[in-house]
Amino acid sequence: MTLGVCAGQTAAQPTVKFGVPVTGGPMDALLLKDYKPDSSLVTPKSRVEKAKYPVIDVHSHSSMNNINTPEDVAAWLRTMDETGIEMSVVFTEATGAEFDRQMALFRPYPKRFQVYAGIDTSNSGAPDFSARVAAEAERCYRQGARGLGELTDKGWGLQASEAGALPRAQRLRVDDPRLDALWKKCAELKIPVNLHIADHPSCWKPLGPNQERTPDFQAFNLSAKDVPSYEELLASRDRMLARHPNTKFILCHLSNQGNDTAALGRILDRYPNLYLDMSARDYELGRQPRTARQFLTKYQHRVMFGTDMGRDKSMYQSWWQLLETADEYLPGRIWWPYYGLELPPATLKSLYRDTALKVLNFSTPGAQ
Ligand SMILES: [Zn+2]
Repeated sequence: MTLGVCAGQTAAQPTVKFGVPVTGGPMDALLLKDYKPDSSLVTPKSRVEKAKYPVIDVHSHSSMNNINTPEDVAAWLRTMDETGIEMSVVFTEATGAEFDRQMALFRPYPKRFQVYAGIDTSNSGAPDFSARVAAEAERCYRQGARGLGELTDKGWGLQASEAGALPRAQRLRVDDPRLDALWKKCAELKIPVNLHIADHPSCWKPLGPNQERTPDFQAFNLSAKDVPSYEELLASRDRMLARHPNTKFILCHLSNQGNDTAALGRILDRYPNLYLDMSARDYELGRQPRTARQFLTKYQHRVMFGTDMGRDKSMYQSWWQLLETADEYLPGRIWWPYYGLELPPATLKSLYRDTALKVLNFSTPGAQ
């Protein structure tokens, strides 16, 4: 008996892609989430132990960084010393007693940590809501908070998630008049607000063969959800910026527009109270090193360094490699390998520290 094509059947014709015949094989059964190719590329790879200049990291989280005890704070400080972080901005996302508890952990190190408070958006329909959140922000400031953040609206409303989200018309948006008193209070106290508005644009595209980001990010997908469009959320940001010109807003993750730096530049030009942090957008910068270098150099007085990726030593060091070296084809978090930006010294100094010195509030807690 011979194996072969039975009468009446034809062998599948191999597909030809770019002139190369493509036939089936073991890789056809591989799941996307398991695909982790080893690179054979041989090019120089730098190891940057410590940042070239002192750094203020404007985006970190006490919860993500597992900071619960003075020992945790001390361990984090050691890593900061080893990697060149002079100061970390810590988002507690807390108010009331929980804010006070976290503030106490960081209070011994006023030159190394700046602590930000959250806001309590429950009962946002109550008549006293506006006054209540503004008063709590001021109370947290008196306790030592030097900003608010990270406050998030991915479409479910400010500080809300899919579980328990209000009907769309009742959700609290950043340009809602109910927040006017809070944003005015931040201007009066001269404290910035770190905001996460919308999300990476791929979240609004279906999960399927054309989805831009890896399966690791599918839990963030919003394409079939009851949320406004990406564009509508960014429009709420613009109305807020226009309505509160005296409040400093730091839009994190390059305002979720790192895929389109020309659009980001236009928005920065339009709203002088807008600042950006680059946290968690290593993949946007690394996939377009020449465009990113131009953008960051042009807007070095409006963009600040931030991480938002935990507190491992290697995490900080991979940022230094990305921003400071010309290394190529660095392993990334999405499909895209990164290419070092090799930023000029003046740009690095601005992004790492000097812009933060102008934007953040360095008044001494307790001295007001
Ligand atoms: Zn964050």
